[in-house]
Amino acid sequence: MSLETDAVIEFDKSHVWHPFTQMADWIRPEHKPLVLTSGHGAWIEDSFGKRYLDGNSSIWTNIHGHNHPVLNRAICRQLERVAHTSFLGFTNPVAAELAGRLTRLLPGSGLTKVFYSDDGSTAIEVAIKMTVQYFLQTDRPHKVRFISFENAYHGDTLGASSLCGISLFHDRFKTHQFPVTRISSVEALPSIDGSPIAGLVIEPMIQGAAGMRLWPAGTLKILRRWCDENAVLLIFDEVMTGFGRTGKIFACQHEEVFPEFLAVAKGLTGGYLPLAATLTTDRVFSAFLGAAQKTFYYGHSYCGNPLGCAAALANLEIFESEAVLEKLQPKIEHLAHRLQGLGKLSNVREIRRAGFIAGIDVGRSDGTPFDPGEQTGARICLAARRCKLLTRPIGDVIVLMLPLCATLEEIDHAVDAIGNAIEVVCTS
Ligand code: PMP
Repeated sequence: MSLETDAVIEFDKSHVWHPFTQMADWIRPEHKPLVLTSGHGAWIEDSFGKRYLDGNSSIWTNIHGHNHPVLNRAICRQLERVAHTSFLGFTNPVAAELAGRLTRLLPGSGLTKVFYSDDGSTAIEVAIKMTVQYFLQTDRPHKVRFISFENAYHGDTLGASSLCGISLFHDRFKTHQFPVTRISSVEALPSIDGSPIAGLVIEPMIQGAAGMRLWPAGTLKILRRWCDENAVLLIFDEVMTGFGRTGKIFACQHEEVFPEFLAVAKGLTGGYLPLAATLTTDRVFSAFLGAAQKTFYYGHSYCGNPLGCAAALANLEIFESEAVLEKLQPKIEHLAHRLQGLGKLSNVREIRRAGFIAGIDVGRSDGTPFDPGEQTGARICLAARRCKLLTRPIGDVIVLMLPLCATLEEIDHAVDAIGNAIEVVCTS
């Protein structure tokens, strides 16, 4: 049974509260949201049968395309066995196998232990709580503070959002968040007293929600050294960058620098199901062994969910069987080349790219930004939709983050759609 489009919209507007959405705009009678009903490869279809290229990988999740037969089969096979069983006091074959596979993705990193949770925010929560408890259990209770970066984004739960640096999203909750030392670059580190610092968190290589902002090469090495010198645990948030987006499985591999905690989610299941993992080291794990009070008393109902773990195993299998990373390199080059052309438009201020992730920063022809009230980025994305591309802006930065399966022709389609949309909106 499926509802007609108008009925879906009516139900939705009557009862649903959408994330990151001004609902006064959403419920306006003239607002006709797209009702997305199916997807194949890099394409999504709406309830009228119109097809759109998935230009932001369904909010940065999808990796190998929609309805991938290997992923579908893996989930169906697991579904025939069982959908969910408790991970508190029990294990299951797929969660155990996946943990082994994940720890082998980064040889030499020392990341040997996997703690499962549900999404990017909880993967970060786990790292925060483990960090705090680690220092309590290694006789350094004074180490309680965290360092994070301006404009960082690590999730919306209160703990994870304490680490965020985007004031629009989180400032109003300040009184309920824990205090954090926020820095804008590694240059601030030498003047910071490391003794009360427990953890330092960063989105390696590129900050996503900040508007796709790249870190200078060498940043992770500097952080690693400072953390080692100050007995601070380093947390890499690879929720967006993980699983091939930057051209390697993880962004930290570009510098061969490894953290004490690696948080992954979004693409872990190929973008199919909510599952997250926080990888850590033997040293951290060992500090939790012993008496009952040393236990990590933390967990969610769906930890180690077998459907999610089966999808994640299939995700990793596809990386190998389809040589995804090898095939991605020419696509990255093609994207870089096509974006260079886009950069010639007078309303493109800057294009920032890390591997297959890109942000196209638009503004006035004289190089100054648009008035945020004009919502130019949103209007460009709406115009791109008419050119069969779905994406979502961050302010006036147009995100282009296709599934890794996108072909050269699909990259062309996406870049052309954005180019046309910029011209239509900015020159009208
Ligand atoms: N960290 C980063 C770097 C992210 O981009 C996001 C989500 N955009 C999160 C954490 C939070 O993930 P989730 O939305 O799955 O909670």
